[in-house]
Amino acid sequence: MAMQPDLSDNLHRLIEGRRDEMVALTQELVRFPTVNPPGEGYRECAEFIGERLSGRGFAVEYVRAAGTPGDSDRHPRINVIARRAGSGPGPCVHFNSHIDVVQAGSGWSVEPFAGVVKDGRIYGRGTCDMKGGLAASIIAAEALIDSDEKLPGALEISGTVDEESGGYGGVHYLAERGWFSAPRVNHVIIPEPLNVDRVCIGHRGVWWAEIETRGRQAHGSMPFLGDCAVRHMHAVIESFERDLYPRLAARHTDMPVVPAGAQASTLNINSIHGGQPESAGFPAPCVADSCRMVIDRRLLIEEDIATAKSEVRELLERLAADRKGFEYSLRDIFEVKPTMSDRNGPVARSTAAAIRQVLGRDAQFICSPGTYDQKHIDRVGKLRDCIAYGPGILDMAHQPDEYVVIDDMVNSAKVMALAARTLLLGNG
Ligand SMILES: [Zn+2]
Repeated sequence: MAMQPDLSDNLHRLIEGRRDEMVALTQELVRFPTVNPPGEGYRECAEFIGERLSGRGFAVEYVRAAGTPGDSDRHPRINVIARRAGSGPGPCVHFNSHIDVVQAGSGWSVEPFAGVVKDGRIYGRGTCDMKGGLAASIIAAEALIDSDEKLPGALEISGTVDEESGGYGGVHYLAERGWFSAPRVNHVIIPEPLNVDRVCIGHRGVWWAEIETRGRQAHGSMPFLGDCAVRHMHAVIESFERDLYPRLAARHTDMPVVPAGAQASTLNINSIHGGQPESAGFPAPCVADSCRMVIDRRLLIEEDIATAKSEVRELLERLAADRKGFEYSLRDIFEVKPTMSDRNGPVARSTAAAIRQVLGRDAQFICSPGTYDQKHIDRVGKLRDCIAYGPGILDMAHQPDEYVVIDDMVNSAKVMALAARTLLLGNG
């Protein structure tokens, strides 16, 4: 035990010495525009990670999630998993990062895929969510290896795809095939952006659905001859405003969800479209015969999905009874149950202890407002000892001018290395 401070000092030194390398690695990762959808450049990015890690003694495997949504020869869903065995039998600590990013969108003051370094930050789409976290975990693992300490067990690093679209071609596919289950893996850290001093033990659930209202097409100059589906959708939104939003806002969870606003149930209208397709050129005058709206309902651990669904269906049924010509359909798109791991489990405890050691303050245990791949590790892989911990700032994810703070990356790499060391030694 007397040796421990020296060994962690050594780890800190090794990581500090790789600050520039960590920045360069993040820049290189950001320069692969792995935008999802459609899933651009997955193979190139996965191979870049695989080649780096095979040079450090990792056994590298590529797994294509053939046949999953979006998978094609043009956009193959390629995942990379690298494993390095330690000095003897022992637990496996796995760092899982998704390599896909959302579209850049507008409002940027820097080029989104250049990896611009400015004022102690790296800017670019995916710096925060979550290539900065991936780079920190790679540097953490390499520092552990170079520390020359005999550590049993195994380290794994994966770069997986499609997290932003549900993870079906990534962690879900791998979990179904045993890549995220004991005895292969015992502890998982997902370096999602949840701030450098917070341990995320789970996430809210989600239900996405599409509501369609139907009408009857007519000439736009004589709307009274048709029936406008957009106006029917307006009635749906009005009933949400009146009857649903106040109810959702009044609910409160015991999950430590951040930000605090997400401790209530929420519903977002992700998109709405009625009438002619946007690509139709100069629009013709028509009454819309269809309007479609995608809703995004987030659930607390105290709620169940069936009840959330019937709550929406009841409002639609009431409109069908009360409103002339109202016809609708409701189609499920996607659902995930809320999940929460044990804050006293080995990975949460070791990471919190490492945060205290590196940052000199207590870690905060939180839950994420949105889901991430922990759901598949928990529900499919049946592996409960999983957290999210990474250097990115939660609020920065998916924003224009997304960035990661370099000091936070260095600190989080130290935390990851210390936590992994504790877990590998069986002291978690
Ligand atoms: Zn993410």
